[in-house]
Amino acid sequence: MLASGHINMNVLRLRFRVFFILILLAGGLSLNAQMIRIGLFNDEVVHSVTVSCTAGEYVIKQGDNRIDGFNKGDILFATLDGGRIMLHSREKQYGTFESVEIKSLSLSGSFRMRPVTPSLGSRSFDDDLILESKVDYMNIINSVDFDKYIAGVLETEVGPNANKELYKAHALLTRTYMLNNFDKHREEGFSLCDGTHCQAYKGKARLNPEIAKAVFETTGEIVADYHYKLITAVFHANSGGETQRASDVWIGDVDYLQAVIDPYSLHQPHAKWYDTISFTDWKNYLLEKGMKSVEKIPDELLYIQQRHRKKYFVLDKDTLMMTRIREDWNLKSTFFNMFPEEDGNRIVIWGKGYGHGVGLSQEGAIKMARDGFSYKDIIKFYFYNVRIMNFGDLPASSLPEMRYE
Ligand SMILES: [Zn+2]
Repeated sequence: MLASGHINMNVLRLRFRVFFILILLAGGLSLNAQMIRIGLFNDEVVHSVTVSCTAGEYVIKQGDNRIDGFNKGDILFATLDGGRIMLHSREKQYGTFESVEIKSLSLSGSFRMRPVTPSLGSRSFDDDLILESKVDYMNIINSVDFDKYIAGVLETEVGPNANKELYKAHALLTRTYMLNNFDKHREEGFSLCDGTHCQAYKGKARLNPEIAKAVFETTGEIVADYHYKLITAVFHANSGGETQRASDVWIGDVDYLQAVIDPYSLHQPHAKWYDTISFTDWKNYLLEKGMKSVEKIPDELLYIQQRHRKKYFVLDKDTLMMTRIREDWNLKSTFFNMFPEEDGNRIVIWGKGYGHGVGLSQEGAIKMARDGFSYKDIIKFYFYNVRIMNFGDLPASSLPEMRYE
């Protein structure tokens, strides 16, 4: 009797302890949600904005000082004035500040913001807003939960009508990019900007609830290489049936960016393209690029032919990078074949794919998702020998410093 009573007490104590730890964890996680600072309207020189609270309760703060509450329906006006931010509501003047924070008191706060000078469209955001005076412009920073930011990027970059497994695959790539580039704008006071320079982010994801679900179901997951380093998560529109090795486009080889035969990109919207150029222009171009052998080689050898993606166009001892040719002639990809037109004056170009061809093919990934492949299958198909794992399990040396001074 005694013994069993003793055991029961222990079990009870243990249960209580587990319960207590779970409560602590839940509280801790909600208090310390992982936040990233995104620089908004980063391509504009913004002088004034209006902010309206659309959900939750906020507090307006300068450092640790509470200035006022800011709740659903409230509107704030912030204008740059003599190098400081002048802040007022409809009723109150709050004074001028070097920086001011509009901080959500819950996990569901959201606000709408519109730059007034210059006059731009309004956008909705989750979580917190920080306004800083940079003397001749305003630094506008959205401090936002990792996953809410990722959902916003997916809605902007993938659009609202994609398959859930595709959203999951992109959620991992977006999260991997985010962590890999956490320092990108550190000197400006935030991690990433909202433009295509980093990852396009137009604010809160609102059009398709599947996006937030896909991000939530893969929370914390990233793509690391064999050595537990975050990968450079590159993608392009369509591979044309074969992806390109990174070292064929950029300097240096990368283990996980190798050429992959990609049947999923065939028969997709950007699988094929067609162009024509003048034969004389082409020949002159090759000469201009220092391909002296053009003069001694018969014309029929001046047409580029490739069964697999090539890094160089080779003529005798001369070489020219395919990426150079693509850029100079404004072609959709480097993966193409040239044919003489019957009259011999023009060259017909039949091309495959769209973009640099390295990493994940977006149209191929869409096809794979539709065919029933999982997001893990999709990522492991395009990135060779990678690990899908939680970023918390990465060695500290693989992660950037995720704090602001
Ligand atoms: Zn940027």
